[in-house]
Amino acid sequence: MKIYNTMSRKKEEFIPLVQGEVSMYVCGPTVYNFFHIGNARTFVVFDTVRRYLEYRGYKVKFIQNFTDIDDKMIKRANEEVITVEELGNRFIGEYYKDADDLNIERATVNPRATEYIEQIISFVQDLIDRDYAYEVDGDVYFSTKKFKGYGKLSGQNIEELQAGARIDIDERKKDPMDFAVWKSQKPGEPAWKSPWGMGRPGWHIECSCMAYNLLGDTIDIHAGGSDLEFPHHENEIAQSESRTGKTFARYWMHSAFVNVNNQKMSKSLNNFFTVREVLQKYDPDVIRMFMLSGHYRTQINFSIELLDSTKAAMDRLNNSILNLESFLDRAVTESIDESEKNYINNLNEYKVKYIQKMDDDFNTADAIAVIFDLIKDININVNNKSSKELINYCLSLIKELGGPLGILQHSKRENIEDDIQKLIEKRQQARKDKNWKLADEIRDMLKKDKIVLEDTAQGVRWKRI
Ligand code: AMP
Ligand code: ZN
Repeated sequence: MKIYNTMSRKKEEFIPLVQGEVSMYVCGPTVYNFFHIGNARTFVVFDTVRRYLEYRGYKVKFIQNFTDIDDKMIKRANEEVITVEELGNRFIGEYYKDADDLNIERATVNPRATEYIEQIISFVQDLIDRDYAYEVDGDVYFSTKKFKGYGKLSGQNIEELQAGARIDIDERKKDPMDFAVWKSQKPGEPAWKSPWGMGRPGWHIECSCMAYNLLGDTIDIHAGGSDLEFPHHENEIAQSESRTGKTFARYWMHSAFVNVNNQKMSKSLNNFFTVREVLQKYDPDVIRMFMLSGHYRTQINFSIELLDSTKAAMDRLNNSILNLESFLDRAVTESIDESEKNYINNLNEYKVKYIQKMDDDFNTADAIAVIFDLIKDININVNNKSSKELINYCLSLIKELGGPLGILQHSKRENIEDDIQKLIEKRQQARKDKNWKLADEIRDMLKKDKIVLEDTAQGVRWKRI
């Protein structure tokens, strides 16, 4: 299995530190607002990476943090006249709601920065003791020049970084590239007691500290959106490696942006769509498929038109699954025969191809294409004359390949049939009551969803057109 490592800018064979186990850290959200489709891509992508690693038999320890103390949190809490803690609690709750709805598996641990203050303080003290950090009036800065590898992730040396950096007029820093690992309290800000006075942690130190406490000195995969490569991840490396002298993360993965009209979707540009609002109109499967239909290192453009065309594609898949489910009712033969056995062997070729694609740096775009090819093949060759065993095999293969992508996991009939059945019953009642207008309205409503009703001797049947 190969993973593109941002550190080497190459695809590398993935060999975890401990055989059969993977430790993974993903930079999570700052919990001051609902998360948007751009953030969601990062979460969905790394949820998919984790699911696929599990599918391939690895035991994955998956950590994704909540940044629950920083400037944005403080600003928003002040605006809402609530405490930063209340704000964090609220949006962590909202995060779980949306993430669960998006079928994102819960992390092994979601640590909150504010739960690790004590450990962060001792991390900072350690950096000072090792002469990698210095205190000025209650602030503590990391001395970037002291860390030889500074710039290695983003492929720049410190002089280039300095030239490219905005001039920082903070006179107290020894070097403009130095960054805060501890910030002294400003009036009205939440703060904790520390050897340097009241203050709070800088953003970068929280990830270094939580990764260390939960996963140890060296982790297998460290991931986040591509905007975090510099400076966030570069700073994490500097803090962690100068403290332990060991490699911090062995594989660095970065997912590309979701754009709107070729600009990054972001809260500050106000061009964002929250997951909450998009989920009102589109199934989680559609949103996940939209995100995974591009390779995770390629930027994708968000538009309602694209979501609609993804929905149409998803409907085709769902229709085929619905058909299979209804064949199962009508099938008379239980077990597969010789020719069906051969056919199953053919179908397994799709699984082989799917694994090849996913093993190649999680090529979800091609893996989805393989699922479409598989379903096309099944559409042609499986029908109500097929054996139940074959139909069940097809259904379970589709579900298996959808699993790592977090899609196609539920029986289509269970969801849809319930709703349709209720409407049919309502229509039957309306007809009994001679309320022809309502009966016609229900029929038209179903027709809009491409469902037609047939009155048969056995009662009302429905089918998709
Ligand atoms: P934030 O809440 O801004 O700290 O972001 C949480 C995660 O979402 C980080 O890993 C970011 O890199 C990622 N992210 C933010 N905006 C986008 C975007 N437009 N496309 C993809 N990922 C994003
Ligand atoms: Zn981080």
